[in-house]
Amino acid sequence: MTQTTELSLRQRVDDWLASFEAALRARDVPAAAALFAPACFWRDLVAFTWNITTVEGRDGVADLLTSTLETTGPSGFELTEEPTEAGDVIDAWFRFETATGRGAGHLRLTSEGAWTLLTTLRELKGFEENQGERRPQGVEHSLARGRKSWKEKRDEEAATLGLTEQPYVVVIGGGQGGIALGARLRQLGVPALVIDKNARPGDQWRGRYKSLCLHDPVWYDHLPYLPFPANWPVFSPKDKIGDWLEMYTRVMEVPYWTSSTVRSARFEDGRWSVVVERAAGTVELTPAHVVFATGMSGKPNWPTFAGQDVFRGEQQHSSGHPGPEAYGGKKVVVVGSNNSAFDICGALWEHGADVTMVQRSSTHIVKSASLMDIGLGDLYSERAVASGVTTDKADMIFASIPYRIMHEFQIPLYERMAERDADFYARLEKAGFRHDWGADGSGLFMKYLRRGSGYYIDVGAADLVADGRVKLAHGQVDRLTEDAVVLEDGTELPADLVVYATGYGSMNGWVADLVDAPTAAKVGKVWGLGSDTPKDPGPWEGEQRNMWKPTQQENLWFHGGNLHQSRHYSLYLALQLKARYEGLPTPVYRLQESHHTG
Ligand SMILES: Cc1cc2nc3c(=O)[nH]c(=O)nc-3n(C[C@H](O)[C@H](O)[C@H](O)COP(=O)(O)OP(=O)(O)OC[C@H]3O[C@@H](n4cnc5c(N)ncnc54)[C@H](O)[C@@H]3O)c2cc1C
Repeated sequence: MTQTTELSLRQRVDDWLASFEAALRARDVPAAAALFAPACFWRDLVAFTWNITTVEGRDGVADLLTSTLETTGPSGFELTEEPTEAGDVIDAWFRFETATGRGAGHLRLTSEGAWTLLTTLRELKGFEENQGERRPQGVEHSLARGRKSWKEKRDEEAATLGLTEQPYVVVIGGGQGGIALGARLRQLGVPALVIDKNARPGDQWRGRYKSLCLHDPVWYDHLPYLPFPANWPVFSPKDKIGDWLEMYTRVMEVPYWTSSTVRSARFEDGRWSVVVERAAGTVELTPAHVVFATGMSGKPNWPTFAGQDVFRGEQQHSSGHPGPEAYGGKKVVVVGSNNSAFDICGALWEHGADVTMVQRSSTHIVKSASLMDIGLGDLYSERAVASGVTTDKADMIFASIPYRIMHEFQIPLYERMAERDADFYARLEKAGFRHDWGADGSGLFMKYLRRGSGYYIDVGAADLVADGRVKLAHGQVDRLTEDAVVLEDGTELPADLVVYATGYGSMNGWVADLVDAPTAAKVGKVWGLGSDTPKDPGPWEGEQRNMWKPTQQENLWFHGGNLHQSRHYSLYLALQLKARYEGLPTPVYRLQESHHTG
């Protein structure tokens, strides 16, 4: 009985893939589009579109194919594992080829046709990475005069790249994003240089407040090629992740300039001129491509309030908060009520400070244990690993859900969390904390993808607010006096220290700083989906704006996000850069439009 069902599932998917391939081979766009359900989504990561894009409906499918089919030349669609079925939906994994590369895909098939299709480019033909069977020898087993050792070659490269030899790509910013991309470009043989103003790779994490540990679990955080060992803690302390990044940079042989600050970048006649300040002097680099990996949580939002100049205590943005040690017994006002605010309030309270949190708008809180179990457990956990969901598979499952309907997958998870932690939410509410579940009840990931803010993963500090050990005030800040923060309703909060946990600006702000304001405006806002929910203005984009894909500024790219995104999407960005480096045609379908300046 089971076997019959499995056979018929397989047969149904095989039939669909064969019909799809036949229609594509015949360049019969209407026939291919008709294989999709009327309400359908096709998400393509670089394989067909040389872009990261999602089309909707049969018209969208037809439009994508009309523009891309001829140059893509797809073929070889073939199941890679047994399909499974849940309700009316069959889930299937497949491989395929294009004229230039090999891809992996995922299909959700219903009785109406394809509901969701994911196609991803995994490697370029003729430019496969040297892995497994193709791993490098590491040594030449023949003697020759003048033969250079690995170290001599590395030293020579360090002495020439960026000085007498120009990199093809300059990655501005060597945090986790720049490092992961640098590793991928290295493996693909693209001459690239990662540049960071800090003294050591990993310093961006080391420099954050002392109590910080990653909010995401280890299974979510692996870097490309080199997973964390099995005894790595679930939540990595920030200095430990800093050390890992430093080690990773070295062993992955990422060309990386430390203590080097990019001062400006200008694009002229098809090449960039990037001015870098280093201890030894100023260097001008002339790469073809520049990637901004300067961090979506790197450009602090410093709010401006009357009286900031007369306040006699200290003022810090959360990114510059040194930790709680110096503030035992002091009065501290933390403006903001998201992750950083809670982490900082918690650590200050532990060190005996008298802490008040100012909540300006509602926050979504989810208990870490519930998020790990219900929100992430099926994909990124020991449980997931045991059931065969590798990190790569988890990334692909996540990628297979179109953003337009992702909230529908998320809402039930957060309903379960609300039920499980009902007492906790009741206590928070009783304490006057304004809590939300996201605009449509879809919780943390959707808030992250839409606006990158507005939440706290509770690792204990919410209880301090719930029971009043950290005091809570509400409203907007009106002004500072010599020794207090005054809210719009006149509430006066005495303070020796004010911490602005007020978040970070859009990444195109970095473009305004380093290139110029018109280029930043041309590129437009970075991040967000256009969901028309708070802080994510429409129109609907279907993908994260400007991330990992061509932008309105030729040869300018953005990379970053959390470790999961940095790991997964660095592959697609690296392949796009590699293809250009090798001179392969890369016709971009539906170039990112710019609707918001920032
Ligand atoms: C408090 C906090 C907690 C977080 N927790 C998690 C978590 O648990 N898991 C997770 O995945 N993400 C987390 N994030 C989000 C995000 O993953 C991190 O912000 C991460 O550091 C982003 O990596 P990145 O490489 O994109 O940017 P960054 O780490 O910010 O790196 C950018 C780099 O660019 C460099 N740079 C900037 N301008 C220049 C210039 N002009 N010249 C040279 N160098 C320059 C900086 O020195 C910096 O090293 C957290 C963020 C914050 C703020």
